[in-house]
Amino acid sequence: MVGLDMQPITVPPPSGQRVHARCDLLGHAPYSDDAQGLFRPYLGAGYRATLDRIAAWMSDAGMSVRVDAIGNVVGRYEGIAPDAPSLLIGSHVDSVRHGGRYDGMLGVILGIEVVAAFARVGRRFPFALEVIGFGDEEGSRFPAAMLTSRTVAGVRDGFDLSMVDGDGISLAAALAEFGLDLAAIDDARIAPGRVLAYVEAHIEQGPVLEAEGRAVGVVSAIAAQHRYRVTMQGMAGHAGTMAMHLRRDALAAAAEAIGTVERIGRAGPADLVATVGRLEVLPGAANVVPGDVMFTIDVRAGTNAVRDAAAGEILSEIRDIAARRDIVLGVALQQDLDATPCDAHLTELMEQAVVDVTGAPARVLVSGAGHDAMVMAHLVPVSMLFIRCEKGISHNPAEAVSTADVEVALRTLTDFVCLFERHC
Ligand SMILES: [Zn+2]
Repeated sequence: MVGLDMQPITVPPPSGQRVHARCDLLGHAPYSDDAQGLFRPYLGAGYRATLDRIAAWMSDAGMSVRVDAIGNVVGRYEGIAPDAPSLLIGSHVDSVRHGGRYDGMLGVILGIEVVAAFARVGRRFPFALEVIGFGDEEGSRFPAAMLTSRTVAGVRDGFDLSMVDGDGISLAAALAEFGLDLAAIDDARIAPGRVLAYVEAHIEQGPVLEAEGRAVGVVSAIAAQHRYRVTMQGMAGHAGTMAMHLRRDALAAAAEAIGTVERIGRAGPADLVATVGRLEVLPGAANVVPGDVMFTIDVRAGTNAVRDAAAGEILSEIRDIAARRDIVLGVALQQDLDATPCDAHLTELMEQAVVDVTGAPARVLVSGAGHDAMVMAHLVPVSMLFIRCEKGISHNPAEAVSTADVEVALRTLTDFVCLFERHC
């Protein structure tokens, strides 16, 4: 065919660049419900378009694809023998409002690329590789989070299908509208033994890896969390006439308490964090001594023991502050999540994979944020890989990761799969 410019048909090799480009593509309409940026709530229009696109990429990578009974997209690359249990790789496809393009999605697209890398050379394992895109991790549509991983892991207690979104649409109606059979939802549950382990790659959503100049890190545990609602009741009075020594100022007491939370948080180990994120002051007038204050305390650490010790110390000091200032104190524990340790053996393998790829010892860190992995740990051993994100920013359109770091993550995950074959 002399004279014709015939280019050979080539399939592009798996690459971090393609992973990065795919996340970027999914960062706006029609994969977002917000024309201005990224908002991809569970079961919305953008969510449906995203599942279709991911399904096509999974299929291109050599996987059979299904949407399970709760709306997760799942691709499967068979092992040497058909119907073998799988190594499950994934993260979530939903986003918060004004979200970033890599939170969750990066882990799903990386999973597809890992499979593409093996499929391209015809490599199969004694186990299947499955990639899952979880539907609801963020809880940005319904007043509950991790609905779909909880269904998959068989720990669905605590949420019911009658809960409604901001438009008054029930979860049941949204599932039916999406074309899912309400009676069959628990079919999404994975039977014990069908999955050998769950691996999740996710942006760090914190500044540690960037500060230390590392592309990736290995997660040892997802933090234990306590969240408290604290009320302080003093006595409101005229700001002009109430003598200082007679005051029972609820806000001044709260200010002292907030300083205590920060001081104890700073004094603990590196994985301890303590935050007052919300404060309400009543009556909230410039000329009135505050009579009532409500604030929240969020305490997290890599182990329950560290969290409990810090929370105990904080509450003890706040009781002293209230007593000294004649303030009526109320403390309610609103959230109590145990630490989720990642599987020790899998963590070692992930550390080895990081050493193999980067030539440097792996940085091991605790995840302060919750992830689907903490739910999946109820079902199978889990491992997590963190990827450096710029300035630690997430849940923000400015969220950014570098293509080079994505490439490191891709090579780490493919190496992990080979180590898993050898050692599990
Ligand atoms: Zn996430």
